[in-house]
Amino acid sequence: MLKQIRQLFRTKSCHFCKKTTGTMQQYKDTSGKTVFVCHLCVPYAERRGLPKN
Ligand SMILES: [Zn+2]
Repeated sequence: MLKQIRQLFRTKSCHFCKKTTGTMQQYKDTSGKTVFVCHLCVPYAERRGLPKN
């Protein structure tokens, strides 16, 4: 279980849809943490006003 959680953190999965695609953009969430956003969710991140990392 713990191993699975660690793996989740290591994988660069999309902040919104949790999918992993080849093209990921880096954004910062509201707490200043770096998050990854896939190309499908980039417009969503832009609408929410997330700053680009
Ligand atoms: Zn996504």
